[in-house]
Parts: sequence; C-alpha cells; structure tokens
Amino acid sequence: MSEPLIYEKSAPGRTGATLPDCDVPQAELPADLLRKDLDLPEVSELQVVRHYTRLSQLNYGIDKGFYPLGSCTMKYNPRVNEDMARLPGLAQLHPLSDADSSQGALALMFHLQNWLAEISGFQGVSLVPAAGAQGELAGILMIRKYHVDRGDTKRTRILIPNSAHGTNPATVTMAGYDAVELPSDEHGDVDLEALRAACDDTVAGMMITFPNTLGLYESHILEVIKAVHDCGGLMYMDGANMNALLGVVKPGELGFDVMHYNLHKTFSTPHGGGGPGSGPVGAGEKLLPFLPGPVVQIVEPAAADDDAPLYGLVMPEKSIGRLKAFHGNFGMHVRAYTYIRINGDQGIKDITRHAVLNANYIRVKLRDTYKVPYDHFNGHEFVLEGHFPDVEGIHALDISKRLMDYGFHPPTNYFPLIVPEALMIEPTETEDKAMLDTFIEAMKKIAAEAHETPDLLRSAPHTAPVSRLDEVRAAKQLMLCCRPIPEWAAETQSSRKAEKGT
Ligand SMILES: *Cc1c(COP(=O)(O)O)cnc(C)c1O
Repeated sequence: MSEPLIYEKSAPGRTGATLPDCDVPQAELPADLLRKDLDLPEVSELQVVRHYTRLSQLNYGIDKGFYPLGSCTMKYNPRVNEDMARLPGLAQLHPLSDADSSQGALALMFHLQNWLAEISGFQGVSLVPAAGAQGELAGILMIRKYHVDRGDTKRTRILIPNSAHGTNPATVTMAGYDAVELPSDEHGDVDLEALRAACDDTVAGMMITFPNTLGLYESHILEVIKAVHDCGGLMYMDGANMNALLGVVKPGELGFDVMHYNLHKTFSTPHGGGGPGSGPVGAGEKLLPFLPGPVVQIVEPAAADDDAPLYGLVMPEKSIGRLKAFHGNFGMHVRAYTYIRINGDQGIKDITRHAVLNANYIRVKLRDTYKVPYDHFNGHEFVLEGHFPDVEGIHALDISKRLMDYGFHPPTNYFPLIVPEALMIEPTETEDKAMLDTFIEAMKKIAAEAHETPDLLRSAPHTAPVSRLDEVRAAKQLMLCCRPIPEWAAETQSSRKAEKGT
C-alpha cells in the first residue's frame, strides 16, 4: 500500500469541521476528565472521505466481481430489496410496537412464512433464527423436544454423513447429542449399508445436507429417509443449498421433518460482511408445535372479502422457545419477501434451473484440465481437485491465490474434507455466460502456469492490496491499526521473512 496512512497526512491545525460560534457561556471542562493521550490525526474532510473510500475499494464483494465461493451462494443482491427495506414504515418500525400499529409488517412476515412453507412443502415456518447455524440448532432442539415429549429419552445419537456441512456436527454436539459420522460410497452418496447398520432405537434422527457438500443430489434420498423413519428417528435437512431445489423439489414432500433456509444465500439478502443473516426453519406435521416463536398467525379472520384479517404474534403450543430478541432479523424478511414477489412462480423455478446449468457448464468445461472426482450431474455447485499429478508443490491454495490476480474471489478451499485439495465452485444463476467463460479461461491459464511457471502461483497474489498472508496468524493476531506498523510488529514481520529466506 503506497498511499500514505491517514496519520501520515496529519498536519497541525488542519481540521475537517468548522463549528458555529458558541451562543452559550463557555465553561471549562474539568482538567482531570480530559484525556491527554488522545492523539487524533488533524486532517481535512476531503482527506477523510478519500481515506474511507479508498479503504472500501480494497475490499472484495459481489458488487465488485465474480464470487464463486461454494456452499455460500454469493448471488447478486438486487437493489430493489434495499429500496423496500428502507421504506420508512418498515425501516423505522420499533420492534416493541404493538400488533395494532404494525399490521403491515406482520402481514409481510405472514406471507413470507407461507411462501417459504409452500416452496419447501412444509406445514409451518418460523422466521426467528438469525442464521443458518441457528436454524440448525432450532431444528435439532425441536427433534429433541419431540422425543422427550413422547417420553422417549433413550435416543442420544444423530447420524451425519461425512459429506455434510461442518456446522451440522457442531450443531448436534451443541444440542447435547452424539454425532455419528456415516461414510459416503464411491458416487458421493450416503453409504446405505452403513446407514442401515447404524439405525436403531438410540437414533434421534439424521441431519443431511441436500444436495450435499459435493454438490450432488443424494440418489437414494427416499431410501435414506425411510431407513431413519423406520427406526423412529426424524430427518433434518440442511437447506442452505436450496438454490439447487427451488421450485423443483419440495423437501417436505420427500419426507423431511424439519429444515432451515438461508435467506442470506438462496433468497438474495446480503452476507459476508453485509449481513445480518436469517435462517428460518420449516417443520412438517410432527414438529409444527415445537417451532421457535413467536410466529405470525391470523388471530381474527377478515370480516368481509375486501377486508384484511388481524395478524398477531403467537408462541407455538410446545415451542422450544425464543432464540433471539423480538421477531428475527426483520430487515432480511423484507428483502426475501421482495425477492420472492419479484421473481414470482416462474422466476423461482428459473433461479434453480440457471444455477444448476451454470455449475454443470463450468464442471464440463474444466473436467479435462482439473480432476473432478465426482464427475456427474451436479446441483448448484461442484468440487474439483486443485493439484496436478505432474507438478509437485502446487496446492489448491496456490490456485486460489492466483485467481485473485485475475480479478476473481477464490472458491471455497479444502472443503469438503473428503476431496484432496478441494476447490468448491458455485457460480450462482446471477452470472452470465460471458462471465463464466472468463472464469473458465482464467482457470485454464492458471493450470498452464502451474506447469510452466509454478512460482507465479506459489507467490500469488501479486495484485491484491496485501500479499499472501499467514492465514492462521492473520486471524489469531489480527493487527487492526491505521498507523504506521509499530516497531515490534515490523520486527516480527522481518524475522518471518528471514525465516522464509525471502
Ligand atoms: C452456510 C451454510 C450453513 C450455515 O449457515 P450460516 O448462516 O453461515 O450459519 C449450514 N449449512 C450449509 C450447507 C451452508 O452452506
């Protein structure tokens, strides 16, 4: 970063604000209350504006370029969502307003609940959870309460395929269950024999990411659901990958009992620094009474056809309780509501069709350049291996870092764990063919570079604001400062360079 830091621009007496003349008697502030070490830069308003604008441009986001971060569905966030979320009647509504004065907002939540239920084939939806992982926790607590409510307390285990998202075993453990890992077969599906062997009356249920983290539709999903139901367990579907199912498959109709959605993935609300998230949970008949609350219901039907009903907030009969203050992240409900309305019936189906088409297109175009371990029809994402048998010492990470030089956000690295040097690519439906082709071309160029000039990959990125970071240290010893690097830090940096011999 050659641009001087804001402290280096400071000049004595320079100021960014002019205060009006004081029109009240001036009073001295008590000297012992004044900080003497408050060393702020003296800069003009324009310098401050440029400083922050420049910082904002160092960041990478979906508004800046292609972001194929598998499992995260980084799709474009339509601006109309933002317009709606900023309508004063919605944006300025206080969460403690009573039902009488917030009927419009409650109606919006009611319709969103119903549409999400319709899309997924479930009986009811609660909008409360604040993220996918919290939706997962809600779902597993609902399963637990269901069993306990029936007096069935011997069920202590939840089955999880090894192609599941990492949050799944974490959720199960947090909810007090033992997570039992199931192997995948050579097609990337759940190993049915291992599943049947694991099913008994100590199984509370199964948690499955569908399509799984290889981007594959489980080909025996109905048998999997039946096996778990047959031993008295319930089925949780991690619905973060609904971008591969929207308008085409209804998980509730497949037989799932409970599922969460990620509004900040599938339903285009912002995430990755632009959040907050929202992870509504949908339930079938058995789990409906256990949904977290409050949910919106009609408390008084419309008196006449052209009248509106009266909406109210209700706790489901055997609710697991509240997970969050108030009603969930309402601003995200507004955005998701807008997104569904704008797309309509046909648009919702097209989202999935194009997301799946785009991911399959990239896979087929890259299969001769990179190893694609499960090289068959995939959903909205797929996984390839970021290494070459004939080049030593090139890893998925090197390919990712080099992609940054070509102006792309890297795919997800080293996940799922069952694929060596995994790169998980999810283009989403919001990119056009020209962008996909540019990305494919970059991936092919990088493969050629790996063979001809491998050091170019190992030392990438070359164009990013900072060079390759020690990612563990960057996360654990985060140095956030707007001053020149302090001496002690500069020392550690140069000793690291010496260690590496650079
Ligand atoms: C993103 C994701 C989650 C977790 O969602 P958060 O909103 O990040 O908590 C869970 N499962 C899968 C498959 C995901 O992709």
